[in-house]
Amino acid sequence: MLTRGLFIDGEFVDAADGATIDVLNPHDGSLLAVVAEGRERDVDVAVDAAQRAFPAWSGLPASERGRILLRLADIIEANAEELALLESTDTGHPLRDTRMLDVPRTVATFRYFGGMADKYEGTVPPVEKGFLNLVTHEPIGVVGQIVPWNFPLMFCGWKLGPALAAGNTVVMKPSELVPLSTLRLCELIDEAGIPPGVVNVVPGYGAVAGARLASHEGVGKISFTGSTVTGRAIVAMSAGNLKRVQLELGGKGANIVFDDANLAAAVNGAAFAIFHNQGQACIAGSRIILHQNIAEEFLDRFVELAASIRVGAPLEAGTEMGPLTSALHRQRVLDYVEVARAEGGEVLTGGAAPDDANLKDGYYVLPTVVRARPEDRVSQEEVFGPFATVAVFNSDDEAVTIANSTQYGLGNGLWTNDLSRAHRVAKALRSGMVWVNSYKRVSPGSPFGGVGQSGYGREMGFEAMHEYTQTKSTWINVDANLPAWYPRNQ
Ligand code: NAD
Repeated sequence: MLTRGLFIDGEFVDAADGATIDVLNPHDGSLLAVVAEGRERDVDVAVDAAQRAFPAWSGLPASERGRILLRLADIIEANAEELALLESTDTGHPLRDTRMLDVPRTVATFRYFGGMADKYEGTVPPVEKGFLNLVTHEPIGVVGQIVPWNFPLMFCGWKLGPALAAGNTVVMKPSELVPLSTLRLCELIDEAGIPPGVVNVVPGYGAVAGARLASHEGVGKISFTGSTVTGRAIVAMSAGNLKRVQLELGGKGANIVFDDANLAAAVNGAAFAIFHNQGQACIAGSRIILHQNIAEEFLDRFVELAASIRVGAPLEAGTEMGPLTSALHRQRVLDYVEVARAEGGEVLTGGAAPDDANLKDGYYVLPTVVRARPEDRVSQEEVFGPFATVAVFNSDDEAVTIANSTQYGLGNGLWTNDLSRAHRVAKALRSGMVWVNSYKRVSPGSPFGGVGQSGYGREMGFEAMHEYTQTKSTWINVDANLPAWYPRNQ
């Protein structure tokens, strides 16, 4: 069994008061690891270390920071199989997915921001005669990063990549449920030559370590990914020193299938959209909205596909869906099945744990499809599990109205072969991302984030560099003959 300390100032250390967290295996509930639990004092020590490391790290040439991040990407790639195994064991993601998606995406993101470091430029805007105006982007200082449990390793790339490329130092609080890949990454960070104190990782509970980080006066910015409720609390906690806040919150993605769509592609894409990662994705396509002309045919095929998904142990070859990440979360998802029934919803498949003795101690839920009305709770609230609702529409306007009817606005998809309709509907959807004839595509170069109660700010792309820098405008008088500023006796 693994034991791990907090990673502060380049060392693994015990928590100040010796507290620990038990990390459980979602496949069978057994004890996987014991990890130090960071509390307020530990967060303070980590922020101190990050503050001390800031001048040297931010003072490095950007190309040198980039070179180190590129080296880190190579090292992660060289350890890909070990990281994939660790991530699958800790989170329950099928090994197929961590090999194909989580780890390669982490590598790609560090590589992208490694390359970005010395290409993120300032500007020289035209201003009045006699002046040169330099607009430069400077690091913020110590950045706090609070990460949820659904993609722990990949989110390290999304958050550490731009923060470090821009010259910030970091205190990260991973989820208390799944800290193992982040702590292993700390060793690789050290191996890559990132100096002590530049990245500090303090696993701990949200209400204790997370709250301390969000309210800490020495932290200049908080980047938070998690639920909308916690996001609101973070904003309140950030007010003390007016720290900058970036929020990636919940979602309730609509996946609209028009009657001219390629149905086979839409069925397959809709299954990926909701069942990949057991539906534990903020951008999951959890609301399938079908044109009435194709609704029954789509559903016949989709329900058949959902029922055939191989649910099994994450490390077993052939597993397409693993367990949810915690017992508590599994119960939450199963409770929504009861909510659906109470609302008059029809469970078309799933709605229960699998009937398999090998999986009985794990946090498994079958792929679930529920016919529900757009206004029902299960169509409005984020279930964050393998749980799709299905509704029917008659016109493009109605499809858009249904899609835009939740408080969220993260990602939506649409399936059509009509180019004009694709553009028209994509524009009308109120969300930070739209996928046409695909779903859930992400790339380091493309900004990721939401509108409405899905939060604000963007991860990835150039926009992420804006998020992790502050802009300075410097005015230089370049004309010795400029008239006096404060004319006297005229
Ligand atoms: P959560 O909000 O409970 O926890 C997220 C993180 O915040 C964890 O590290 C947790 O320890 C910490 N936290 C909890 N309470 C805190 C507090 N009072 N102060 C400071 N930190 C606190 O969410 P979760 O259950 O871990 O994650 C699932 C949620 O995250 C879903 O709603 C999902 O949509 C959202 N999510 C959003 C995105 C996105 O990019 N938009 C990505 C993944 C997950």
